[in-house]
Amino acid sequence: YRFSRRTDKGEKVRVSFEFFPPKTDEMERKLWETVKRLEPLDPDFVSVTYGAGGSTRERTARTVRRILEETVLTPAAHLTCVDADRDAVDTVIREFAGMGVKRFVALRGDPAEGVGAAYRPHPNGYTNGAELVGALSRHGDFDISVSAYPEKHPESPDFATDIEMLKRKVDNGATRAITQFFFDNDVYERYVERARRAGIYIPIVPGILPVHNFTQMTRFAGQCGAHVPAWLAERFQGLHDDPPTHQLVAAAVAAEQVLDLVERGVEDFHFYTMNRADLAFAICHMIGIRPAAERIGAQPAAA
Ligand code: FAD
Repeated sequence: YRFSRRTDKGEKVRVSFEFFPPKTDEMERKLWETVKRLEPLDPDFVSVTYGAGGSTRERTARTVRRILEETVLTPAAHLTCVDADRDAVDTVIREFAGMGVKRFVALRGDPAEGVGAAYRPHPNGYTNGAELVGALSRHGDFDISVSAYPEKHPESPDFATDIEMLKRKVDNGATRAITQFFFDNDVYERYVERARRAGIYIPIVPGILPVHNFTQMTRFAGQCGAHVPAWLAERFQGLHDDPPTHQLVAAAVAAEQVLDLVERGVEDFHFYTMNRADLAFAICHMIGIRPAAERIGAQPAAA
């Protein structure tokens, strides 16, 4: 019963996938294998990240262009404010728009020196995500996603300030928030409730990070203020040198999290794929997101 109930709900579930622009030919080859594997799942959109200080500007643009030219997918270009004046950011917006990009993920970004260093806005730049959303709204009728932090952004002194920042982004035209990754679904639910109480009604889509590498994930979580629960560390303990078991545990953990969110009524998921298809594909399968012809209830194509 539980399975069929989840599968029924799965018909309504929408997903998006996040990629980062590849640095080498080998990474590019791997990314395209991933894109091609995930494409038949018909995601709502796929997004391509933007490196600190515009360091990936060309590579982000190249990846987005390839998605537009070689797939039926809808790309969303990430964009940040780091180390760029307003003219430079506006130029990038126009370049993407000229390419046919209609979706953006608008971020402040982190200092080029790395996460944790104090953020100093460019003197003539957009100072935060909310201002960048405003700039995008002035340039066109875009679908604009922004970040949200269920455990609050490390620079936010309290939740009220954090939610206030999200509200400013919505007021400036954001249509969707995507969360930083998290592992405790209660934390996510409480954050969504806080946002709703503050009059924020856009979708707050959980960002799901399948744990491809627990050690790396822990380091990253420490930098971005995401809490790694003790029970999660316990599950991955001792698996550093056992990749096949690590992978199975990662699939189980992510499936458990996503299925629980579906039970709680969540209908949109954003996957941080790390440019790998396997875990995202398997989790999608479990929530009823399948290649078109295989979808549950789909009629076989006429001969
Ligand atoms: P904002 O929401 O603009 O600000 C973050 C916090 O800073 C606020 O919550 C607030 O505490 C404080 N703050 C900002 N402005 C003010 C103000 N005027 N007054 C008071 N406090 C203020 N990084 C990349 O470099 N490239 C990417 O492609 C990328 N993609 C991401 C995608 C998602 C879905 C998420 C969740 C994060 C992504 N990041 C990316 C990381 C992001 O850039 C960092 O988390 C960064 O530290 C904050 O960016 P933001 O847009 O969330 O900042």
